[in-house]
Amino acid sequence: MNSDELYALLRRRGVLWPSSEIYGGAQGLYDYGPLGAALKRRIEDAWRAWFLGLSDDYYEIDPAELLPEAVVRASGHLENFTDPEVVCDGCHRAYRADTILESARPEGVDGLSSEAIADLVRRFAPRCPACGAERLRVPRPFNLMFGLEFGAAAGDRAYLRPETAQNSYLAFARMWEVGRKALPLGIAVVGKAFRNEIAPRQILYRLRAFTQAELQIFFDPERWTVPIDVVRHDALPLVLARRRAAGDESIHPTTVEALVREENVPEFFAYHLAMAHRFYRDVLGYPAGRLRLFEKSETERAFYNRLQFDVEVNLDSLGGFREVGAVHYRGDYDLSRHSAGSGRDLAVTTGDGRRIVPHVLELTFGVDRNLWALADLHLVRDGERTVWKLPPYLAPLQVAVFPLLKKEHGPVARTIAEELRGEGWAVEYDDAGNVGRRYARVDEAGIPFAVTVDRETIEPGPAQGTVTVRLRDDRSQERLARARLAARLRPAFVFPHPPRAG
Ligand SMILES: [Zn+2]
Repeated sequence: MNSDELYALLRRRGVLWPSSEIYGGAQGLYDYGPLGAALKRRIEDAWRAWFLGLSDDYYEIDPAELLPEAVVRASGHLENFTDPEVVCDGCHRAYRADTILESARPEGVDGLSSEAIADLVRRFAPRCPACGAERLRVPRPFNLMFGLEFGAAAGDRAYLRPETAQNSYLAFARMWEVGRKALPLGIAVVGKAFRNEIAPRQILYRLRAFTQAELQIFFDPERWTVPIDVVRHDALPLVLARRRAAGDESIHPTTVEALVREENVPEFFAYHLAMAHRFYRDVLGYPAGRLRLFEKSETERAFYNRLQFDVEVNLDSLGGFREVGAVHYRGDYDLSRHSAGSGRDLAVTTGDGRRIVPHVLELTFGVDRNLWALADLHLVRDGERTVWKLPPYLAPLQVAVFPLLKKEHGPVARTIAEELRGEGWAVEYDDAGNVGRRYARVDEAGIPFAVTVDRETIEPGPAQGTVTVRLRDDRSQERLARARLAARLRPAFVFPHPPRAG
């Protein structure tokens, strides 16, 4: 499906819609409806089960979304978190430089100074997409943070956090104190981040308010052993920066072992990259052929990142590979900056008596982008029907219960629905219309199991007390005893956990 078709379907089903819709919508803001909100929650829970499951020393915190100005000054966001903006002197619309220069410079403008971008705009003289005038200019770097007055005192400012990561860095000292004072220590945040995007676009892909799930792992660069054997033979779909520099943009499946031995990628990095890859492939169920791990070169990545691999997925609706997450090795940049900014020494003493500033490995995950990818990749037309083939543990609604005939079979069906709700599952009870139409609704909403109560369930005979379970993906049906229903369905709803060593 293309982006418009997919969005129309999601909007019609109440998965998401424009925020403040009755006022014409607010650019870059979307609301999730019942199905979208439930799906988002399950994606977040699947992320928690996987990434917090990597170690007993990884924890989730729930910090404030507002950061005082001193924090974003120390982190560098006040000065550097900018996008080059291009403004039309004809109609006064603003654009991102990379979109205006897309055809002239498809590789983007990351890392270019505003002078260099102004020069490109002069040289290629692109027209304003809105009014057609050739009067575009580059006025100033545009800061992407939302700033606001903080309290009643004049001059006190705070910012909506532009990323959840900063909260983890700020929490490190306290988490060290309350924890067992050992590295590695992982601090995760799942929550909203805010960016005043110049040109929000592609629905959930570039938003002004979005949800991130990020894990910051603080570690001792001289002492961090990971269970590399668990992933040693995983083949990773790599696009390496050194190959791209030589003109080769294609995917080269490479084992973790070769990545460490031949590309000199540290074991801790290769291990987490492989575990992230498994999450997208095995937990979210993205087809292996749609994934690639795209290494950013030294000039493309932020200067403090020593290594950066973006996780990209090939989406028909967005016309190619799009970033949905990343693994960053940030060195000691973050704690050093906040040590300097706060005046609090964030160095720690290791078990063997060395005084070090911990390094950071960051695993980022865009919840909204992946929600969109789960729709793009799993919501398919299958002959006459539209089916959302989500992994069952991600399905917003987990079981549908139907009485074949509303009056005759309704009471028993309602009891079964209550029993299944008692298991903690999201159950939809539907007795309206013919069964075919009910199945169609179930398929489109991605409900993996539909339980039907019919005459045989109720009347004396060999099948008394049995129900049929219809499976969404292949439409096959099983007849089984009511008493065995919960045990049959339960395994499908367990979030996958990462394998542990030993
Ligand atoms: Zn214009």
